[in-house]
Amino acid sequence: STRIVLASRPIGMPEPENFRTETVELESPQPGEALLQTLYLSLDPYMRGRMSDAPSYAPPVQIDETMCGATISRVLESTDPALGPGDVVLGWGGWQTHSVEKVRALRKLDPNAAPLTTALGVLGMPGLTAYSGLLTIGQPKPGETVVVAAATGPVGATVGQIAKIKGARAVGIAGGPEKVALLRERFGFDAAVDHRAPDFAEQLAAATPDGIDVYYENVGGAVFDAILPRLNPFARIPVCGLIANYNDTDLPPGPDRLPLLMSSILRRSLTVRGFIVSEFADQAGEFYSAAAQWIAQGKLAYLEDIVDGLDHAVEAFQGLLTGKNLGKLVIKVSD
Ligand code: NDP
Repeated sequence: STRIVLASRPIGMPEPENFRTETVELESPQPGEALLQTLYLSLDPYMRGRMSDAPSYAPPVQIDETMCGATISRVLESTDPALGPGDVVLGWGGWQTHSVEKVRALRKLDPNAAPLTTALGVLGMPGLTAYSGLLTIGQPKPGETVVVAAATGPVGATVGQIAKIKGARAVGIAGGPEKVALLRERFGFDAAVDHRAPDFAEQLAAATPDGIDVYYENVGGAVFDAILPRLNPFARIPVCGLIANYNDTDLPPGPDRLPLLMSSILRRSLTVRGFIVSEFADQAGEFYSAAAQWIAQGKLAYLEDIVDGLDHAVEAFQGLLTGKNLGKLVIKVSD
């Protein structure tokens, strides 16, 4: 079996030398455990945080430890009758071809219900993140304007489409003309804006003539600077992610913009509320049934970027942090 371990903590962008590929003997499952073969590995932005030992909501991956990650795997051997060889499960196998996991921590998937990879994206953690963050914190009302960036990704695309389902106007922000075209054509956003274009702020103003009522924050950075002046009184800002900053080693230079932010929050009565999806675990059931129905009704489209081979994981992860992925990034580890 092959695994990718964290060899050193990246400073800035993770580089291949921060990882090491190892070949190890297959372990035998202990009572209550199963031996699994990884079919798909999910790559997600939060993994950048796990590579760092800065204080966070979850402990870091230790040096020489296998990189963590959600996986879809086939059961090879199980010590618990709840699972048998050939069953397919959602688990936490990490960046490796095989894993031994506790059976009660695994969720059995029905390969006939939906394509397996959707359990890592639209029907999985990113989908729930979009659903709960938007509806519980953003609370979009019919006719309001909802803006989201990283809008072709599994979180952003789902946010925009749920906003539409709830009767709001959805404006998507993405990097480059190909992604911007997808926002309108595939995901049905009412307007789409390119954050890489030199006239991004003007494009955003034109796309939000009535201001912004909900800004679902996925990226931070220069995108937020353009958003801030467009926020309406009583706007809601679910803070889901700040990917523009994940590789930062220091605060940015320049004038201190904190007073501008705080006075905007004060004068415009903004609600800024961060969250981690685990907070909304109790909404998973209602989310799955709603999302499965929306997909069946053609109201919720999704896009996946499936990269072949565990040996491409580091390169693909770099691409996630720079916008090279087109949809939910998944590594196909084996057939
Ligand atoms: P995506 O598939 O959307 O990938 C990340 C995207 O971010 C890139 O494709 C790129 O899109 C965009 N991006 C990268 N750098 C920048 C930048 N400097 N400025 C603007 N956009 C940038 O990822 P996910 O949908 O999985 O995740 C989206 C966000 O949600 C992330 O911030 C993630 O950390 C967060 N998240 C938070 C959770 C929580 O519990 N709070 C749970 C799950 C995700 P483009 O090319 O369009 O710029």
